[in-house]
Amino acid sequence: MPKVHKVRKSSAGKEYICVKCRKPIVAGQEYFHWTKYRSATQQQHVDCGYPRRSQLSNSKMGPLWDEVDAFTPDGHESADDLQSALADIANVANDVAAEYSEAADNIESASGSGALTSEACRTVAEELESWASDLENWEPTADTEEGAKPVDDWLQEVREEASELVGNCPEYQG
Ligand SMILES: [Zn+2]
Repeated sequence: MPKVHKVRKSSAGKEYICVKCRKPIVAGQEYFHWTKYRSATQQQHVDCGYPRRSQLSNSKMGPLWDEVDAFTPDGHESADDLQSALADIANVANDVAAEYSEAADNIESASGSGALTSEACRTVAEELESWASDLENWEPTADTEEGAKPVDDWLQEVREEASELVGNCPEYQG
């Protein structure tokens, strides 16, 4: 991934437009800038947040990374709630898996060379589908025996379990 620089806009030089809010970056404002491979440099106000992983990469994984990064176990107040959040991530994982499968088909039919190899695409597609299925079928294993532990402790354990599973997002190895 490209290196992200944080600087303050001087009054000299050309004006930039923030890629997030589409407003100009004016003198005195802090902003991030980065340059993706074979792309124009992009600028974003520091106030508009650090660039998301999908902004820094052309990888098909981008949308999934954003889902994983946005997952906050503490924002969920029950195991049901966590289950539905994981199912949402699983949907995106399945979409990305489908894109890799399609890429593998294209590579195999074109028999050309590219940055992606069909084998690596097949592998990550399978891993994503399997992970998505784990997310969809996730159930807390934390001890729920009555009186075993206070509800807050239990929920915290359940959140950690969910978080660990989300953190195990497969990577493209090609
Ligand atoms: Zn902005």
